[in-house]
Amino acid sequence: MTFFPLPAFNDNYIWITKDATQKTIWAVDPGDAQVVLDYCKAEHLTLAGILITHHHKDHTGGVEALKKEFNCPTYGPESLSPTLVTHPLRQGESVTVHHQEFLVLETPGHTLDHICYFAEPEQHAPQLLCGDTLFRGGCGRLFEGSPAQMLNAMTRLRELPHATQVYGTHEYTLANYRFALAIDPNNTALANANHEAEALRAKDTPTLPTTIALEAQTNPFMRFDWQQVVAGAAHLLNEDPAQDLINGFAQIRRAKDGF
Ligand SMILES: [Zn+2]
Repeated sequence: MTFFPLPAFNDNYIWITKDATQKTIWAVDPGDAQVVLDYCKAEHLTLAGILITHHHKDHTGGVEALKKEFNCPTYGPESLSPTLVTHPLRQGESVTVHHQEFLVLETPGHTLDHICYFAEPEQHAPQLLCGDTLFRGGCGRLFEGSPAQMLNAMTRLRELPHATQVYGTHEYTLANYRFALAIDPNNTALANANHEAEALRAKDTPTLPTTIALEAQTNPFMRFDWQQVVAGAAHLLNEDPAQDLINGFAQIRRAKDGF
């Protein structure tokens, strides 16, 4: 099982996965119904289900229209109204997508209701659908949660198998790498990842999915326990580097917000 992106809005990806017979699809965070409707019509496909990661409109805006058109189940955080989510989910529960079980991980931070979906298929690399929690080279802004919550989310995601394919919802990679290079300039893996991403974007190709291995090496929000990363962020803020992990993480986040 793999996912491929349908671009939506300016920089969103609606991730899609087809079943073995190529007749039905599932969609993740369909913020725009028309994008999915057009795709289904052109490819003669039926929408079998929807996964939602959090309540923001660019992730949920198309759900009601698609649910009405295809009468399909919708899975998401229990904070969402029953008109959007037919099957509310909590930490540790699971959902079956084309015979593949995905485990729900609650990752509050970007929003308080944010969940990720994780699967370990037998034939493929593990898969993580992570919405606006983890991006290539970055993490979601803290609109509702605390630095401690996002630090906890990054810690848990970093512990997933390194081969895990990571499907974030936004094409923010180049901007994320500009910031990452500013605070972590001697990171060779980061410089290499940036060159690769620049080449992909020059061809208008998505830089996602990424992997946990790459993020652990290059993403400043997963390198919160590297002193040089915290020192680089503190330098941008004209502050002294924090001496503990939570305040260090908060400095990295604030430095990015003001970058
Ligand atoms: Zn969001």
